[in-house]
Amino acid sequence: MAGTLYIVATPIGNLSDLSDRVKDVLRNTDILLVEDTRVSAKLLNYLDVKKQMVSCHEHNERERIKVLEEAAKNNLSVALLSDAGTPLISDPGEHLVARAVDLGFTIVPIAGPSAFLLALVGSGLPCDRFSFEGFLPDKPKEIRNALMGLVKEKRTLVFYVSPHKLDRTLAEVNALFGQRKACLARELTKMHEEFIRGTVEEITQRINPAGWRGEFVLVIEGSKESESDDPSQSEKEYEQYVRLRLDQGDRASDVAQDAAKIFKRKRSDVYRLVVDFQKDRQNRLGECDN
Ligand code: SAM
Repeated sequence: MAGTLYIVATPIGNLSDLSDRVKDVLRNTDILLVEDTRVSAKLLNYLDVKKQMVSCHEHNERERIKVLEEAAKNNLSVALLSDAGTPLISDPGEHLVARAVDLGFTIVPIAGPSAFLLALVGSGLPCDRFSFEGFLPDKPKEIRNALMGLVKEKRTLVFYVSPHKLDRTLAEVNALFGQRKACLARELTKMHEEFIRGTVEEITQRINPAGWRGEFVLVIEGSKESESDDPSQSEKEYEQYVRLRLDQGDRASDVAQDAAKIFKRKRSDVYRLVVDFQKDRQNRLGECDN
């Protein structure tokens, strides 16, 4: 008979968010699987819980499945913790939980904070349907490609952003989604919690890398239902999309084909825009040479 796996959400900055249920689970579980033992040691010290921890991070999660298999044989309880927030949400744990389900563990998620949900509900943007996108890729071109794949997504978009990539990420988001409403949520649940709202362009202009330290979640409104909702947003994004693809050296015929499909335009119309942009670019290059 298998045991129980608790998936324990822990505070993302404010220890008052620790519930009695979290405390009970940490005190009474047989095995603690934690992302970083040094980080979780602070939490256990705070609760005065003395218990051995086993590290379980993105590089050893599959090995830790053995710990789970042993626990199953002995009907032991296991708790899974991230450094902060809810495990599995842009954090390790999904292989472990999948295996625990196969082994017949009872799975008990213990409620607590997750940064994306707090950012979404505090953003002022629609919450009825949303798409959590986690972290964007690292390189500007990859960020752009990921964003271009989302240009027609109607649901509110939610991204995690590492502090040292905030500038780069906002620059790419601004190039495509500059006119959209957005909210940058920073230092959630902490003393300097802040929601910076406006269009992406306005938020980008307000960016202050020196003053904006900490952790960030970016929430962006989805694409408008149809062009009639906000024709200017749609038209701008269509033109930006074509321009960005050409700037990154994609073939004109590919750009025309993709843009026609995504923005529901006639291919011949897109092709005309492509040619205009190419002429414009050549003129600009010519001016630089003179
Ligand atoms: N599992 C966590 C959760 O449930 O929110 C997320 C872990 S992910 C590795 C870390 C990212 O979450 C940060 O880079 C940031 O984007 C976001 N984050 C975590 N804590 C935050 C906070 N207090 N305020 C704003 N964003 C936060």
